Amino acid sequence: MSKLEGKVALITGAGSGIGRASAIHMAQAGAAVMCSDIDSQSAEGTVALISEAGGRADGMGLDVTSAQEMREAIKRTISNLGDINVLFNNAGVGGGFGWDQTIAVNLTGVFHGLSIGAPLLAERGGGVIINTASIAGMIALMTPPVDEDAETEADPDAEAGIGAYVAAKHGVVGLTKQFAVNYGGQGVRVNAIAPGFIVTPMTAEFRAEQAGEDFLIDLHPMGRLGQPEEIASVATFLASSDASFINGITLPVDGGYTAR
Ligand code: NAP
Repeated sequence: MSKLEGKVALITGAGSGIGRASAIHMAQAGAAVMCSDIDSQSAEGTVALISEAGGRADGMGLDVTSAQEMREAIKRTISNLGDINVLFNNAGVGGGFGWDQTIAVNLTGVFHGLSIGAPLLAERGGGVIINTASIAGMIALMTPPVDEDAETEADPDAEAGIGAYVAAKHGVVGLTKQFAVNYGGQGVRVNAIAPGFIVTPMTAEFRAEQAGEDFLIDLHPMGRLGQPEEIASVATFLASSDASFINGITLPVDGGYTAR
């Protein structure tokens, strides 16, 4: 039997990168998937890919910085797809957005999913929450120089953005533990995934120059970057009963990045 047969999953940031790959992977594993994204058109693009392959999905706009929108998305998942068993808090922005926006999306957005989703799943008999953290939730972030010939004056906005990214992702790891402890006894498992650098639009700027890409590759002992599908398969695993005794962990999926 497929790992997620009969399950319903709500995924945030499902219009691109890791979220899109996870929506497709979970649908292939038998789940009905609500694909949500701040950009509803990109979410619908993911729905189309799933539907064309014979899977079941629906799409909607969801800005995770709004608790109200998160509540509505969960409600709509239940009314349109019949249930909710898995919530994947995946939406995020990279380091280029400054302190407030990065914290709002990458930390507060995950908190909204947890604080609204966990009690509701518990009330409905249990479920699974997965958060996308990062290697930047475990250690400091090494990013390539975007232009080595440029003036080397520190850019305070960029520094604030990277600091916010690392702070937000460390926060996601902490929230994952806290909600796992609070809700584990009520049948809700809460875990996080910590990807290394993955080939998605989020890392496109870093990868645009060969020197930038080589810098990133060198950080991974496997000598390459990850693909979104390599995160998606782990999300499906954590969502499935194969992971039935896994609760409160942040699982690095990083080609060995955090091993040294
Ligand atoms: P991505 O391709 O840029 O996908 C992120 C998606 O989230 C985009 O569709 C984006 O929409 C959406 N989004 C942005 N703000 C949102 C909001 N307020 N509410 C709902 N959706 C919003 O990036 P990705 O690499 O797949 O990133 C997915 C997650 O993985 C993020 O949490 C990221 O921090 C994490 N991660 C990525 C990497 C990596 O190397 N790629 C490594 C570690 C962790 P727009 O494009 O319209 O903004």
